[in-house]
Amino acid sequence: MSDPFFRPVSGFDLPRFAGVPTFMRLPHVDPAHPRFADVDIGIIGVPWDSGTTNRPGPRHGPRQLRDMSTMIRAQNGATGVRPFEAANCADLGDVPPNPADIMDSMERITAFYDGVVAAGITPLTAGGDHLSSLPVLRALARNGPLGMIHFDSHTDLFNSYFGGTKYTHGTPFRRAVEEGLLDPKRVIQIGIRGSAYDMEDRDFAAATGIRIVPIEEFFARGPEDVMAEARALVGSDPTYVSYDIDFVDPAFAPGTGTPEVGGPTSFQALQVARLLSGVTIAGADLVEVSPPFDASGGTAFLGVSIMFEMLCCMTGNGTT
Ligand code: MN
Ligand code: MN
Repeated sequence: MSDPFFRPVSGFDLPRFAGVPTFMRLPHVDPAHPRFADVDIGIIGVPWDSGTTNRPGPRHGPRQLRDMSTMIRAQNGATGVRPFEAANCADLGDVPPNPADIMDSMERITAFYDGVVAAGITPLTAGGDHLSSLPVLRALARNGPLGMIHFDSHTDLFNSYFGGTKYTHGTPFRRAVEEGLLDPKRVIQIGIRGSAYDMEDRDFAAATGIRIVPIEEFFARGPEDVMAEARALVGSDPTYVSYDIDFVDPAFAPGTGTPEVGGPTSFQALQVARLLSGVTIAGADLVEVSPPFDASGGTAFLGVSIMFEMLCCMTGNGTT
């Protein structure tokens, strides 16, 4: 049972539209807070989009995700899980990036997550663009490479952009494999689709053993079958979960920089996250929500709903 200090503020005590918004109305426990070491799962904002190559905006993601997350209640209606009672959950605040310097920002992010890992906290990240995952993985994989279940319409396995730029939101997992942060034989990428410049990313996946599930296969087999394969592929060893909101069809998630049509519904988006149950989740992220393209807030609401599903799986997975 969690410590009552770490329970969210109930909408019956303070209406959901009132108060200072924190992730899921949890206490704000930054690294200087006296209860920091008691946190099991920490939700962290990475307000940073310097890796974005097309339409920007995910630097505004954590703030809008926090706002929409006040809609999340204490119990999972589908599974019955009450994550805030199962583990000490908290909002650890935002990593302060340097918006003018990519390399400095990545060092700042890794340093923040080093402190999180040292305190025994499992991080759940709200991005930020997808390059955010790389500095997080650098902190999480210090004891050896992780597996990864990756939901996205893109592989993010490209080598470089604009004639040699190695760090963009299209390259993080290429770098992560090269740096030994991920075991490519325990990586599965689900939902891949859309037009491409070339197949260089697919070639890298084939050469290293990364499993790609294109959207056509996802729909032909169905979420349950694909997720059963994903769970078997990563096994019981520590696994990172990276969830790009552009995995979802832009009819349901228009607020993102690089949308691709022909994707899963909002129901399927939650379903695949729920089917992570049983995976040893070393950390998870939800990235690429871009509030400037999300006029209704619906993309952010779907994003935090996916984060809630992931959190429910994290509270029961043995890493907390
Ligand atoms: Mn991505
Ligand atoms: Mn993507």
